[in-house]
Amino acid sequence: MKQIVASQPYGPNFLITKIECKNHIMRNYKRRLREIGTKTKNATGSVPGSVRSLLDADRQLRLRVAVTSAIRYRSAGYLPFQQRIDEPAKDIHNGPYHVFGDHRCWTERGFFCKGPKEGDVCLADIPKEVGMWDDILSAKNFVAHHLSSLIHNISTNDVERFNSVLCKFLGGKRVYFSMRVS
Ligand SMILES: [Zn+2]
Repeated sequence: MKQIVASQPYGPNFLITKIECKNHIMRNYKRRLREIGTKTKNATGSVPGSVRSLLDADRQLRLRVAVTSAIRYRSAGYLPFQQRIDEPAKDIHNGPYHVFGDHRCWTERGFFCKGPKEGDVCLADIPKEVGMWDDILSAKNFVAHHLSSLIHNISTNDVERFNSVLCKFLGGKRVYFSMRVS
């Protein structure tokens, strides 16, 4: 990949970006969340079982669904590319807060998060005390960082889906060069 970037096959005006496979990104998120929910120590110190159990299988699943549904419903192909990234990004960043019942900074997100419900308990402060919240946010940030890849993966066809290389013409026009040279 480095070599492709360095060789500038399309000249210096083309920025080449690797499109990470959606499955890899989501599998990585799944693995990270599972690790956070099980590891007894993190950078801050030890994490009691009572706190770890807050990130149970159900919440891990909800965190992942928050990502996939944000992309599915917020990045329709007819929207400008930047909007297709910005809109699901808001939901993805809100994901952990929503799943842990924290609506203190809530802004209207339509169907995705309708704000606090009666009987909601805000649990977000508990993992914060032992550094687990930072781990959750950094796992979430990893996904958000690869959002353009996720969106590309969903909107592209099967042939280009895996490990395709995107060649971006500065100015927004995108050109694929993963075509066969035969
Ligand atoms: Zn919410």
